[in-house]
Amino acid sequence: MALIVQKYGGTSVGSVERIEAVAEKVLGFRRQGHDVVVVVSAMSGETNRLLALARQIDEQPDMREMDALVATGEQVSMALLAMALHKRGCPARSYNGAQVRILTDSAFTKARIRQIDDARIREDLARDHVVVIAGFQGVDEDGNVTTLGRGGSDTPAVAVAAALRADECQIYTDVDGVYTTDPRVVPEARRLDRITFEEMLELASQGSKVLQIRSVEFAGKYRVPLRVLSSFVDGPGTLITMEDEVADMEAPTIAGIAFNRDEAKITVRGVPDTPGTAYRILGPVGDANIEVDVIVQNVAEGKSTDFTFTVHRNDLQRAAKVLEGVSEALGARGIVTDARICKVSVVGVGMRSHAGVASRMFKALSDVNINIQMVTTSEIKITVVLEEKYLELAVRALHTAFGLDTPLVEDR
Ligand code: ADP
Ligand code: ASP
Ligand code: MG
Repeated sequence: MALIVQKYGGTSVGSVERIEAVAEKVLGFRRQGHDVVVVVSAMSGETNRLLALARQIDEQPDMREMDALVATGEQVSMALLAMALHKRGCPARSYNGAQVRILTDSAFTKARIRQIDDARIREDLARDHVVVIAGFQGVDEDGNVTTLGRGGSDTPAVAVAAALRADECQIYTDVDGVYTTDPRVVPEARRLDRITFEEMLELASQGSKVLQIRSVEFAGKYRVPLRVLSSFVDGPGTLITMEDEVADMEAPTIAGIAFNRDEAKITVRGVPDTPGTAYRILGPVGDANIEVDVIVQNVAEGKSTDFTFTVHRNDLQRAAKVLEGVSEALGARGIVTDARICKVSVVGVGMRSHAGVASRMFKALSDVNINIQMVTTSEIKITVVLEEKYLELAVRALHTAFGLDTPLVEDR
């Protein structure tokens, strides 16, 4: 007998029929003698519908009320799932984030979990109930409803699993595991049997939305056995493992490819090539609470050079405004912005022991005539910034170049 925490995403609870199917699935685990805690997302499309409603009233609604609004989506699915379980004779109770209580900070729309009070969950489990918890939400110290950012139902599932020391946290979604890249972009993408936490963390942070990054962080920190599976078809899914467990295997150099279109590029032209310039540019950007990602400073031809960096697309206008004054003060030639960029990253722990990954990447992109605008690397990742229109072409070319299309002799 095991304690299993399961999370069902939006598509998995997308209709009454799907919710009934989830109830059947949960019952199947109960029949095997397992205790089950379920975390649910809002029915697919619901969060977007609620966000659009808010925008009909105000383009920039109050963040606290925004969270009060969007948290309702998950509460609908939690209650419906509890009803579907009752109908099948299974005792179950649903709780929203505040009821559990999932305590978060007060950063509305992107709150972080601080603590989980598992007393109620444990009591219900002891009484042989299934516990159903609304994902995506929590409550701050003052009792305000908070939400955890888009895709944020994964995180309470892993956090609850950590708090309960569950035997496994299962993330049920509309794909049957973690793939070498988004199968919607590359149909030849392959499901991985296993992937390391480190790799999953990089993939998630570089844009693979199959798991919210915070959930992977939690799983790594508290060593929660985490598995991604399909709620539609049976199968082993993908196990997120600690690296030492796979170290003895012939790990391929690259585990997967991630991408995102969330960023935009800003260039300050003709800035003096002197100490302190980067600080004079990025200091005010940081002061405005704008996060900077990739940075490139070109070599000066004369006494001046171009300084380029990326920010989240939503912050582009604000960043450009901040820089207008800076540019003038520096005597620069002005600012150029470009929102039509994308970021593509290849990720793999095998990079540590294999040289030449970057040149392989650049060759593959050059073979399909794609210009690389910026590059940044970490120990297990190489990221390039490209023109947005090349995203799909680049991902497919890299997927083939790194041998991800064809099945490996030894699966991971
Ligand atoms: P849920 O609503 O169940 O949380 P999401 O839409 O958040 O589902 O995440 C699942 C989706 O993530 C898949 O449909 C797939 O298109 C996308 N995805 C992106 N990268 C990957 C990847 N490497 N492996 C699997 N799915 C991926
Ligand atoms: N419903 C939320 C969203 O759409 C959370 C989630 O589904 O994970 O972002
Ligand atoms: Mg998701």
